[in-house]
Amino acid sequence: MAMRTKFVAGNWKMNGNLASNQVLLQALVTALSRVAGVKCAICAPYPYLAQVQQLLSGSGIAWGAQNVSQFESGAYTGEISGAMLVDFGCRYVIVGHSERRSLLGETSEVVAEKYAAALKAGVTPILCVGETLNEREAGATERVVGEQLDAVLTHSGALSFAHAVIAYEPVWAIGTGKTATPEQAQAVHAFIRGRVAEHDATVAGNVQVLYGGSVKGSNAAQLLAMPDIDGGLIGGASLDANELAAICKSASSAN
Ligand code: PEP
Repeated sequence: MAMRTKFVAGNWKMNGNLASNQVLLQALVTALSRVAGVKCAICAPYPYLAQVQQLLSGSGIAWGAQNVSQFESGAYTGEISGAMLVDFGCRYVIVGHSERRSLLGETSEVVAEKYAAALKAGVTPILCVGETLNEREAGATERVVGEQLDAVLTHSGALSFAHAVIAYEPVWAIGTGKTATPEQAQAVHAFIRGRVAEHDATVAGNVQVLYGGSVKGSNAAQLLAMPDIDGGLIGGASLDANELAAICKSASSAN
C-alpha cells in the first residue's frame, strides 16, 4: 500500500509586505517546529521569495511560488521562469490556480505548458483543478476536472505525476467559507486518482492529492481523515500562523 505523508501548502495569494511577512514567517517557524511528521510549504508572491528563502532556510518548511512562465527564458517581459524560482530555493510552484484560470485567462493548455516548464526546471508543480458551482450543479464536476487533468496527462504523461502534486479546489469553496464536505471531496479525490491510475496505477497510488477550499483549523481534521485526501492547499488560513499550525497538527495526527 502506498504511504502518502500529509502535505500542507499555504497560498498567500497577493497578500503581505516585508514587515508583515517577517512577523508571520517567524511565528510559523516557531509554531511548526512543534509539529512533527508533516511536510509544509509556503507559496509566496515573487518579490518576497528572497525574504522567504532567508527566513525559512533550515526551518524544515519549504517554499514556492504561485505561478511560473511556460517559457524558459528570453523576450517575455514581466514573466518569471522556472530557473529563476530554483535560484531562490523554491521547491514548489502552484500551477493553474482557479483565480488564474478564471481572472487571468489561463487555459488548460497553457496550464499544461506551465506544469511542464516547472518540471523541466526541477520545481514540483502543484496542479490545481476544480469545478465552479454551476458546473457542479449541472453534474459536470467529473467532466471538468477530468478535462483539466487530461490536458496535463496528454502533454506530460502520467509518469510526470511522480514529481508533482495535485490540488482539488472546488471553485465555489475557495475563499467563500464554504468547504466541500469530507465525502464530497473524497469522491472527487478518488476520481482524480482513478484518472491517473488509468495510465499508471503505481504513480496514482503515490501522488499526493490535496484539498483546497476554506480549510481552517476547525475543519481540517475531518477532511484529512478521508483516505484520498493527502493534505491541504490553504489560502486565507495560511496568513495566520496559529491557524496554519492547527491544520498541520491535524495533518500530523492523520498521518
Ligand atoms: C486557495 O486559494 O488555494 C484556497 C484554497 O483559498 P481559501 O483557503 O482561502 O479558500
